[in-house]
Amino acid sequence: MKSGITLLLPFLFILSVPSLHAQSESALQIETEVTRSDIEFNIRFLAADEFLGRDTGTQELDIAARYIATWLEMYGAEPAAGHSSFYQDVPLQSSSAPEDILFSVNDTTFLKNRDLIAINDFRGSTDAPLAILEYATGDELKEHDVEGKIVISRTGMPGQMSPQQFFGAAAAKRDRVAEAGALGLIEIYASPALPWQVLVNFLTGDRLQLADPAGATAEPSLLPHLWINGNPAGNTDFLTGLNEHDAHISVTGPASSEIISRNVIGVIRGSDPDLQHEYVMLSAHYDHVGVMPNHPEPIRTEFIFNGARDNAVGTAGVLAAARYFGKYPPRRSVILAAWTAEEKGLLGSRYYAENPLIPLNQTVYNLNIDGAGYNDTTKVTVIGLGRTEADEDLMAAAGAFGLTAIPDPVPEQNLFNRSDNASLARKGVPAPTYSMGLTAFDEEINYYYHQTSDHPDSLDYDYLTQYIRSFIYAAYRIGNTNQAPFWLPGDEYEEAGMELYGVGVE
Ligand SMILES: [Zn+2]
Repeated sequence: MKSGITLLLPFLFILSVPSLHAQSESALQIETEVTRSDIEFNIRFLAADEFLGRDTGTQELDIAARYIATWLEMYGAEPAAGHSSFYQDVPLQSSSAPEDILFSVNDTTFLKNRDLIAINDFRGSTDAPLAILEYATGDELKEHDVEGKIVISRTGMPGQMSPQQFFGAAAAKRDRVAEAGALGLIEIYASPALPWQVLVNFLTGDRLQLADPAGATAEPSLLPHLWINGNPAGNTDFLTGLNEHDAHISVTGPASSEIISRNVIGVIRGSDPDLQHEYVMLSAHYDHVGVMPNHPEPIRTEFIFNGARDNAVGTAGVLAAARYFGKYPPRRSVILAAWTAEEKGLLGSRYYAENPLIPLNQTVYNLNIDGAGYNDTTKVTVIGLGRTEADEDLMAAAGAFGLTAIPDPVPEQNLFNRSDNASLARKGVPAPTYSMGLTAFDEEINYYYHQTSDHPDSLDYDYLTQYIRSFIYAAYRIGNTNQAPFWLPGDEYEEAGMELYGVGVE
């Protein structure tokens, strides 16, 4: 026995050395191949003033998409199987805020923003008597004749308290009252959770949303749907006594329109015939928030949100990964994804998750880059460290470039669910976001986050080069493991993952 162990020891040593050596060799190769000049060039180009902040729906963003697609092709990536281009069209519905909103009954007139916000895209006017209900539930609508009337009710459904619930219930309620023949719906809003003024600021900008997949956006019988400020209650309490009184609603402004924006998706085939049908997705959004609203002319640099950290850095990271893996593919295939409309509510990635170009159950991992910025150049902040089986690889990848991987420092901010990784995670794909070193939302972060100061001149390119190299090395390691990393037990998305990959299904 003793001699057996003695014989085995040098053997184990020999076995373990080449694999360690091989790992550091690939890190060294990444260090040689992934250059600061390449990364700096792409960040400076994509965050240049001429892109006017890469707002969704602009020609400047389309030019950025063309730039990304062209490089993907140059680096040897291919469109997804069955697709002729690197573009995935994302149909979006764009609506501007109404120019004016008015609701009047008897001698009282309610005004836009002070009292009223529009919940849907109705434009036009309606004159009809009021029908006062409590919540406009299905039962109430059976008991009351609302045909040809404007329904007034509280927001949401019985027992609901939060604005999220109110929003969630809004469309179904509108459909219900329309079905019952009503000509309008006004809900009285009174939630202490979200003050009226915050709601107004949130809802009065221009809006972008995914177009209805069924193409049913142009409801022919769209009726006006408003919320009215029910605080203090005295403002609106008297309405409950005005059943059958004649009222007038008008909403003016341009109607909504459909626009097409683009995700850019490329694929690099893996080197292992057995594993190449599995895909590691490397992603980043390439849009940003445009220019300051109501900026004076001409547009000068101080009115442009360049979005260097957010997210020219991530886009440059995906391009650098494409360049590297185009030459040195890992065993698994790689999907390179640049998302549009992240800043409008993760719209590009959400659309992809519903309409994937490569089956999601073959997409075994998603490493996303996004972030508010950095305040510690010794770190990488992995939003999702401690949630998947890739922790060791992620930490080793950061370590190989002199960085320390740390988990989400502000879990209460729910960052995990606030970027594009969440679109994939909800479907079950293990999907952390590999962010620049963030230790807290401090003054330094807030100075740049969604500010015109997030400019390419303000970046530490030596740090960003190491950071992007470590991202590529993390992807390399995940792309080469025998077993793709899954969610850790008990994770919020573990069940979605089991369903997606059929884990545990006998
Ligand atoms: Zn971002």
